[in-house]
Amino acid sequence: MLDDEAIQKYIKAGRIACIIRKEAERYIKVGMSLIDVAKYIEQKISEYGGIPAFPTNISINSIAAHYTPEPDDKSIITDNSIVKVDIGVHVDGYIADTASTIVFDDKYITLAEAAKEAVEKAIKIVDKGIKFSEVGNIINNTIKNYGYNPIYNLSGHSVDRYVLHSGEVIPNFRDRMNFGSFKVGNVYAIEPFATTGVGYVENSSKITIYSLKLNPKKLNKLSNDIQTLFNTIYSERRALPFALRWYTNIYELELLTKIIKVLLSQGLAISYPVLVERTRGLVAQYEHTVLIGNNGEKIILTDNC
Ligand code: MN
Ligand code: MN
Repeated sequence: MLDDEAIQKYIKAGRIACIIRKEAERYIKVGMSLIDVAKYIEQKISEYGGIPAFPTNISINSIAAHYTPEPDDKSIITDNSIVKVDIGVHVDGYIADTASTIVFDDKYITLAEAAKEAVEKAIKIVDKGIKFSEVGNIINNTIKNYGYNPIYNLSGHSVDRYVLHSGEVIPNFRDRMNFGSFKVGNVYAIEPFATTGVGYVENSSKITIYSLKLNPKKLNKLSNDIQTLFNTIYSERRALPFALRWYTNIYELELLTKIIKVLLSQGLAISYPVLVERTRGLVAQYEHTVLIGNNGEKIILTDNC
């Protein structure tokens, strides 16, 4: 069940995410640094009255997801890149998650189109009672029709307050082992990825995104410095993802990196490695967040601006 206040906050988060996705599509140009693009987007989120639900992901070429610029990032957008921008906004913990693909070379247009058509067809059929695997089937068929593969081991997800991935999985293919279906009073992110590769991502060795995991018993055994940093980030983020560059104004990067390593080893933090297509195929992504109200009414939160 969702109360009125929750629904209004979801709608606000969705509208902000929608406006900024469209602004980002116009704003991003060849020659820009990824860190400037991320800062621009995250600045806009707060200007419009939201908070980033996760660090802006700017994933290029065969990187599918989980890349956010590092504190000293030097990467630049080049004219032969296919750029996925994945934006998360929350209002009081109510999250909207949306993504778009920007291309600077005509040879990538159909790949981006495939993912775009897939998300549009998918959100059209989302409804209470519809099986997740049915949506996956439409995503798969749409992308295959273009001659590309979906990414099979990436998926959409249910969303909950302060929880980006709250348990349900919406596959990007007809997964016969997935018996889930859309329920009233719930929020779902649908996110097809299309690729020229085989359609599987793997972890790279690079990590740019983390989240915290509350465990006072374990935390209390650590030094005061570590406890203070944990509490600073946790009070702001709870279990939502964050980037180290958000905290380099209050902590030296070296110290920050050292502490996060301790937290990871103690199970007090989780890392999200950058995900790369296994065969280094190019990757496109689109994403929308959909709310199904208590009476079954459907609101495409991130297509409402
Ligand atoms: Mn996303
Ligand atoms: Mn998502």
